[in-house]
Amino acid sequence: MGTSKSELLFQNAQKHLVGGVNSPVRSFKAVGGHPRFIQCAKGAYVEDVDGNRFIDFVGSWGPMILGHNPDRVIKAVKEQLDRGTSYGAPCEVEVELAQQIKEALPSIELLRFTSSGTEATMSALRLARAVTKRARILKFEGSYHGHSDGLLVSAGSGATTFGVPSSQGVPDFLAKNTWVLPYNDVEALDVLFTTQGINIAAVILEPVCGNMGVVEPSKEFLNALSKLTKEYGSLLIFDEVMTGFRLGWSGAQGLFNMKPDLTCLGKIIGGGFPVGAFGGRRELMEQIAPMGPVYQAGTLSGNPIAMSAGLATLKSLKSLKPYKTLEKITSDLAVFLRNEGKKKKIPIQVNQVGSMFTVFFTSGVVDSYLSAMESDTKAYATFFNSLLEQGVSMPPSQFEAAFVSTEHDAKVMDQAKKIFSEAFSKVARAL
Ligand code: PLP
Repeated sequence: MGTSKSELLFQNAQKHLVGGVNSPVRSFKAVGGHPRFIQCAKGAYVEDVDGNRFIDFVGSWGPMILGHNPDRVIKAVKEQLDRGTSYGAPCEVEVELAQQIKEALPSIELLRFTSSGTEATMSALRLARAVTKRARILKFEGSYHGHSDGLLVSAGSGATTFGVPSSQGVPDFLAKNTWVLPYNDVEALDVLFTTQGINIAAVILEPVCGNMGVVEPSKEFLNALSKLTKEYGSLLIFDEVMTGFRLGWSGAQGLFNMKPDLTCLGKIIGGGFPVGAFGGRRELMEQIAPMGPVYQAGTLSGNPIAMSAGLATLKSLKSLKPYKTLEKITSDLAVFLRNEGKKKKIPIQVNQVGSMFTVFFTSGVVDSYLSAMESDTKAYATFFNSLLEQGVSMPPSQFEAAFVSTEHDAKVMDQAKKIFSEAFSKVARAL
């Protein structure tokens, strides 16, 4: 089947939308070609406007853990539609979803819903600065926490730990309040805290990184974070926008048995609708307006459609208990991919945690941004495009996580494996 309708739509889209897309990575800039315009999605599959079907490992960048259009979620959304789409006033489903989240994540005693993950992280940091009366924050190179000014910052050159803007339009004076260290670097963390700990309001962490591709934290790194933030009175913020309800019912904090001061959520808790949330200990969250002096608000925050979709998703996850199966299916795939790489003499590293995975085209261990950057992005582009041609949709960038859903059953995965194998052959021929 062709791609002419997608091509035409993309040409037209570029006349009206910046770069033809509403979020940069969708543009295929990193892998070449043009994006496929999707007309419908169900289960493990998405279908483009030319009628091509793809086994989907993007899953709308994480939310679709139950696959696309799950019946229970769609039913809840339809029922809510009949009752109204937005009230600008409290409604019951917000409370129900909050209760469900708290039950899963005991570190959250009180929470606030937002309309995106970006708002959640931005607001959590404002709160951290307010309660600690400190300005500086610490993040890790290669992480992504949304696109607010203070977080679009990467590491400066050389020995400096001051951040530099990673986007034009972010003023230096803001970037300087964000320190950036390499992920998993315990020594650097120790040095920064020893010299500057009393100035750090919060450390924000992707507890399993997805935004440089999947990178796991070491035990030592997590222990050091926990110890140092406590010792110096800085807040530890887990950005679980991606990992929340993805890596387990209690997210990454459940997996690692940790209790962050604040947690940010998004993606899955909205069941495919725009959503975010941040929450934590009661005495911290009580500083948010209207209870406290830290202002935070949103016209569509707690939107009843998003809340209904999120609640139905969490209820399904609670009854399905899919996490062991998801882990097994995904680790089986990871093993298969590693073996294929070996067989075809392609240097790859497959990082996988739960239902998240990344195939890095490099021979070295990937445990930081620097090591991820060793990857051969041209090989990834060949891999990606070969997969797409054969009916598998992967993230259009080397440095992203792929996601497996409960709809990726053995039959789907067998089909996907054949296609992955073909794509590796193509990469091997191109090397
Ligand atoms: N935090 C993490 C870990 C994310 O992966 C993302 C988005 O991918 C965000 C924050 C930002 O969320 P949103 O895109 O909903 O603003």
